[in-house]
Amino acid sequence: MGQMTEAGPPGMVRLGGVMLPLVGRARVYVCGITPYDVTHLGHAAAFVWADTLARVLDAGGAEVIMCRNVTDVDDVLLAAADRAGEPYDRFAAIQQFYFDRDMAALGVAQPAVQPRAHAYIGQVIALAAGLLERGMAYQRGGQVYFRGAAVAGRAVLDQEAALRLADEYGDDPGDRQKDHPLDVAVWRASRAGQPGWASPWGSGRPGWHAECAAMALDVFGPAVDVLAGGADLRFPHHAYQAGLAEAFTGVTPFCRARLNAGVVRVAGAKMAKSAGNLVLVGDLLKDYPVAAVRPGRGSAGSGAAALTAMRAALADDLDVPAALRVAENDGGQAARSLGSLLGLW
Ligand SMILES: [Zn+2]
Repeated sequence: MGQMTEAGPPGMVRLGGVMLPLVGRARVYVCGITPYDVTHLGHAAAFVWADTLARVLDAGGAEVIMCRNVTDVDDVLLAAADRAGEPYDRFAAIQQFYFDRDMAALGVAQPAVQPRAHAYIGQVIALAAGLLERGMAYQRGGQVYFRGAAVAGRAVLDQEAALRLADEYGDDPGDRQKDHPLDVAVWRASRAGQPGWASPWGSGRPGWHAECAAMALDVFGPAVDVLAGGADLRFPHHAYQAGLAEAFTGVTPFCRARLNAGVVRVAGAKMAKSAGNLVLVGDLLKDYPVAAVRPGRGSAGSGAAALTAMRAALADDLDVPAALRVAENDGGQAARSLGSLLGLW
């Protein structure tokens, strides 16, 4: 074993307070896009951070298997396709093309596995059936609900905050069919005119959290090393994804560590379509090089100690600003190595 650093011995990455020893393969599940609109910087930030994580894990000696899903069955997408007068799958495929183009322009590597929700209906039905069998879910009016009252507590949220977020993200805490307002739909009944698939509970479609749980279980088995996505996915999405998977498999924890990329703000406000402050990746790349959009620049210099310090900074919760400061101050090998590691120059 080599020289110890502040971040721990080589082959360790600290992520969100968890020391993650890199052993063999690193299974990274990234919650991907709902392809209903052009990519803005707020979305892109999460994927750039996940890509940075993959590069740091790879540099630390792990064989990284990245899975980034496409949520192509979702109420927001169905509504947008409806407004555009397009079938939802064709509409999603076009948006996906623009997303892939923006990611390629940002130097974000293609994930090894890219599951699409519409191809995992059978797995969601199996998940719902398994949860019913274990008494972790119940059926009501063509819907299957997961008993989720404990999930908020595990996410360290009080009931009031959990209910507010559940409402904001479409989990419908006011649904009177539920036993508890924090139960979530694993399977949702489809009304006439909505896309629906045959199930033991009638025509319906998967719930969002169940889609990601089913895709992750199918691709990686009962656990992943890192569950990644935007900070706004922490609750309810990631919390329920993990809760569903654990209730189904009995394997805990579902994820060893989490990466939640910070929300991108414009003049203090969260970047969101509803706020009308979107900065589109395509527009930004017309005026700025990739190395400015992904954080970074370099200079000339020297130093093996700088190289060690730069690597230690990256292994310490992906501290890219600290790694850049080392590269800027010392340049040389540290700067060149950081540039190629992050795909900046
Ligand atoms: Zn997800």
